[in-house]
This record gives sequence, structure tokens and C-alpha cells, in this order.
Amino acid sequence: MSTDSQDEIFLGQREHMVRYQIERRGVETPNVLEAMRAVPRHLFVPPDQQEFAYSDGAMRIGHGQTISQPYIVALMTDLLKLSGGEKVLEVGTGSGYQAAVLAQIAKEVHSIERHAPLSDNAYQVFDELNIGNIHLHVGDGTLGLSDQAPFQGIMVTAAAPKVPKALLNQLDQGGRLVLPVGRRFSQVLEVWQRVGAKYEQETLTAVAFVPLIGEEGWPEGKGDRSFF
Ligand code: SAM
Repeated sequence: MSTDSQDEIFLGQREHMVRYQIERRGVETPNVLEAMRAVPRHLFVPPDQQEFAYSDGAMRIGHGQTISQPYIVALMTDLLKLSGGEKVLEVGTGSGYQAAVLAQIAKEVHSIERHAPLSDNAYQVFDELNIGNIHLHVGDGTLGLSDQAPFQGIMVTAAAPKVPKALLNQLDQGGRLVLPVGRRFSQVLEVWQRVGAKYEQETLTAVAFVPLIGEEGWPEGKGDRSFF
């Protein structure tokens, strides 16, 4: 099959993903749907898995880590309520897909990953796609990036035992932090917003993410890897 017809197939699958996995579940914000339509998810999964890239689930990306379900990527992006112009921090680069979606909307995205090879892979895909507004960092994202703060949005794409204080401190006034919080294998999505000297907190749907490992996360150990 020619590359052009393969690209056509992926385009059709992506449109189907947006309509039936995302819009039908209630994510309707135009800039989020546009971003999900624009980013070629198949380039962020291992080459031998590309045919499954637009299916309704998380997938393995190596190093015991996962690329999240498309709906969860769209939902978490929506919860940040970005309008463009923001500086956003993502903790857990993984494949780079979520960062690429955020970069369609925000002005500048910083993404931090603890596994250097995953960060290197993501860099190559961004290069191939000519995405120039993502800055990659390797390290413990539970501590955030104090030299880049404040952020108008922060998203954590790994499960925290509790909200990391460093991330709350690095939120700008009015800024929103979205993250899964809970136990090792089941969590709820939380949204924190900085309002004056306080934070308003909201709890949303149940989710299951790989653990956030680090100083303000879980200790390194046996359960660090995905189990599917
Ligand atoms: N956002 C990713 C994507 O679009 O593919 C999916 C992220 S995956 C569910 C969670 C990622 O968080 C893993 O790649 C894992 O290595 C990373 N991670 C876990 N703890 C971390 C930490 N303290 N700092 C940075 N990355 C961390």
C-alpha cells in the first residue's frame, strides 16, 4: 500500500476516534477537538502497533510505560481550559503524544520524563512533525520546573499518591493543575486551581494510570510498570 493511501486510512480512523470516542463522551471544546484531529497518534506508538493507534484504549510504549487512551488525553486537555498563549507543564512525556496535543493549543509546552530513552523518542517525533514549541526535560517531574514557573496549566500523566506541593507552588494565578490521585492501580482525576492565596479543588472521574515515581510521588519499586 502506498504511503498516501495509508495516511488516508489513518486520517479516517482519527476522525472516527474524535467523533465516537471523544465527542460522544462529552468533550466538545473546539480547540481540543481540533488538536485531537491534528496530531497523528500513529507516529507516537511503536511502528508494529500503528494499526491500533486509533483504538479506544491505552497502549504500551516500552519501558513498562503507556500512551493514554485518546479520550483521557482529550478530557485532561479540556480540563486545563486553555485558550492559547499559555505556558504549560506536562509531567510524564512518555510517547510525547499528550505534549503534542497541548502544543496545538498552548503557546509553549515543557514536558518532563524520568526515562531518558522515552524523551529521546519523543524528540525525534516532534522533529519529524516540525513541532517547535515543546521543550523536553529529563528528571523528576514531581518537583516541577522551578526555573520555568509560573505555569498557567500543569498536567500530570502518571498517578500521584497526593498532589505534589511543588506543582501547586508553580501554578500561576488562575492556573489549573490536572492529575490522577489515589492508589497504585486506581485513581480519580483531580483539578486544582490557584485563586488568590487559596486553591480550589474538584474531583472528577475514575482513571487508572502508571505510577508517578519520585520525591513527591511513589518510591521506585516493583509496581512501577503497567500491568497490561
Ligand atoms: N503523556 C504520555 C503520553 O502522551 O504518551 C503518557 C504518560 S505515561 C501514562 C506516564 C509517564 O510518566 C511514563 O512515561 C513515566 O515514565 C513518567 N513518569 C513517572 N514518574 C515520573 C516523574 N516523577 N517525572 C517524570 N516522569 C515520570
